[in-house]
Amino acid sequence: MLRWLKADLHVHTVLSPCAELEMGPRAIVQAAMAKGLGLLAITDHNAWANVAPVVALAARMGIAVLPGMEVQTKEEVHVLCFLPGLKELQEVGKEIGRHLPPLENRPEVFGDQIIVDEEENILSLEDKLLLSSVDLTLEQVAQITQAAGGLIIPAHVDRPAFSLLSNLGMDPSGLNVAALEISASHDPKMVCREFPELEHYTLVASSDAHRLSDFKTPFVTFFYIAAPTLAEIALACAGRDGRKVVIVPESR
Ligand SMILES: [Zn+2]
Ligand SMILES: [Zn+2]
Repeated sequence: MLRWLKADLHVHTVLSPCAELEMGPRAIVQAAMAKGLGLLAITDHNAWANVAPVVALAARMGIAVLPGMEVQTKEEVHVLCFLPGLKELQEVGKEIGRHLPPLENRPEVFGDQIIVDEEENILSLEDKLLLSSVDLTLEQVAQITQAAGGLIIPAHVDRPAFSLLSNLGMDPSGLNVAALEISASHDPKMVCREFPELEHYTLVASSDAHRLSDFKTPFVTFFYIAAPTLAEIALACAGRDGRKVVIVPESR
């Protein structure tokens, strides 16, 4: 049976140096519940280690978590990579990690990069700077992700930096993107007026939350799907088999 699921497919945890320290698994799941989300994705910068604790905690609350990460490509384009399961995410994540430059994080400049468990105990600190570009092109990141059964959604394409449109200005049709992400802070109609090329693509809107207050957005994405799986998300993005995706104003 198909049903509507409220989704936010772009949320950072304390592993992202630019995210606030309040972005631990428990707080994220609580914020997701408060927002009424049925589907959440954890997408740290070039990293995946904090996805599993959120998956475990969210499952107890009936919220599905899509395994993902936000990769910064050689062209400084941010792209969301989603995988069907944690195993595939780890495999792709390790491959992506091997292409990060060997730069050490400077917590006093960039912030701490904290790996936690479900209880929010600190397991370790990631030493390698995650806020870097991997030495892989967008096309290569897409290939690696798709070969593992995943899909890609270029992130915040309406932003003037670190985005597909701003950095490459290219038509992404050759990349086989599932959808393009726009900021949930903006009216999609206005965004499409500014970037008419977006009309031809499926759009999703996400919070890109780096702090808990970011969860509150004026627009939200709903998927009409049979189950909160990557395969169903792919069908919805393609508008196939009755599945669909819409961006609507958040109710007040
Ligand atoms: Zn980004
Ligand atoms: Zn992000």
